[in-house]
Amino acid sequence: MIEQQRILATSIPGPRSQELLARKAAAVAAGVGVGLPVHVTDGAGGILRDADGNQLIDLGSGIAVTTVGNGNARVVAAVTEQVQRFTHTCFMVTPYEPYVAVCERLNALTPGEHEKRSALFNSGAEAVENAVKIARHATGRQAVVVFEHGYHGRTNLTMGMTSKNMPYKHRFGPFAPEIYRVPMAYPYRWPGGPERCAEEALSTVTSMIHAQVGEENTAAVVIEPIQGEGGFIVPPDGFLRGLADWCREHGILLVADEVQSGFCRTGDWFACDHDGVVPDLVTTAKGIAGGMPLAAVTGRAEIMDAVHGGGLGGTYGGNPVACAAALASIESMEEDDLAGRARSIGKILGDRLGALAERHPQVGDVRGRGAMMAMELVTDPDTKQPDAALAAAVNRGCHERGVVTLTCGTYGNVFRFLPPLSIGDDLLHEAMDVLEESFAAATA
Ligand SMILES: *Cc1c(COP(=O)(O)O)cnc(C)c1O
Repeated sequence: MIEQQRILATSIPGPRSQELLARKAAAVAAGVGVGLPVHVTDGAGGILRDADGNQLIDLGSGIAVTTVGNGNARVVAAVTEQVQRFTHTCFMVTPYEPYVAVCERLNALTPGEHEKRSALFNSGAEAVENAVKIARHATGRQAVVVFEHGYHGRTNLTMGMTSKNMPYKHRFGPFAPEIYRVPMAYPYRWPGGPERCAEEALSTVTSMIHAQVGEENTAAVVIEPIQGEGGFIVPPDGFLRGLADWCREHGILLVADEVQSGFCRTGDWFACDHDGVVPDLVTTAKGIAGGMPLAAVTGRAEIMDAVHGGGLGGTYGGNPVACAAALASIESMEEDDLAGRARSIGKILGDRLGALAERHPQVGDVRGRGAMMAMELVTDPDTKQPDAALAAAVNRGCHERGVVTLTCGTYGNVFRFLPPLSIGDDLLHEAMDVLEESFAAATA
């Protein structure tokens, strides 16, 4: 068992990781980039150990995936058991219980008391693609509305739905048609100020859809209830509810992309719960299965069941080992009250980042919810000019000091925190000390 302790055994990356990097360069396509070039050999709780014996504090959870903790004991046991029974049949050929059980859990846990159905896939992008397929089929409409700063994946359809060009879309077009992008309710950068953001954004969005797309042509509005890659943008109170009401009035399906924000990350089961919003369809992945690849679409029974038999599926979707991991992860979230833990992590991160913001005017905004927190860095709080160079320098500083951190944001200037929910307070505070040290060094 790895001790929950940061250890700097070598400089980072160490000699062994550097050797592996050379092998990577010779064997792996250059387009597959890495953020922190250490090669991991083991993980436990809030710690990752690398090939040189360094132990790094994990503030990324492999992008919000190992929410239940690295090497979660329940997940390890469930995967080990399932792998010894059978690893694959293809659910569409001969089904098995773990798939059905995951769907039952998803139907019960996602927002709303109505009757639901689920279908399982392998990745977030695949879930979003299928949500669009289902929404188009059920409504007989084609247009899909998405938001500025939105991120939905790297397949052709989801690249088209994603907002940011570099690195996701650049020279990968043409993209699928019938995708329309509208402004996001982004309080920090809303021209009329944060107080007017909810109302003005809602009015802009609905009038744009009316004028440029037509309500009766619109199958779905797809939104991340808290945007992930785009910069942890939290829409102001009332925006999501207003959007949900307007969609319902016009027979447009509201799809909540909870791939990053779901499964206790924000302190509720799903980010929509906080806003009291009940989407028609919900996409999930990332935190669902403790690191095993699994994704889902969950939604109203009459919408999900509108698709003809055989219209949904895939060879690996709902793999039994991944399903066993999901059931164990959900059990951990319930038994260990990980939503409550996410809220207390959010309090610690919020306090520490707030204190940092008081000392450094370059911290323009601190935002997020639960264990999905971020700070947006600017050159000057008045102009709000994004400072991607500072974000990169602080990120590098954290990496060199043994903390796994991530940036995000359309302008690359947002520093995000996604720790595993099993991380201890001590490690979290130590990581925040490292962040402060790196920030001071980068701005000295
Ligand atoms: C990561 C992400 C996706 C894509 O998931 P993959 O598993 O990488 O395909 C889609 N939507 C959101 C909100 C995400 O954060």
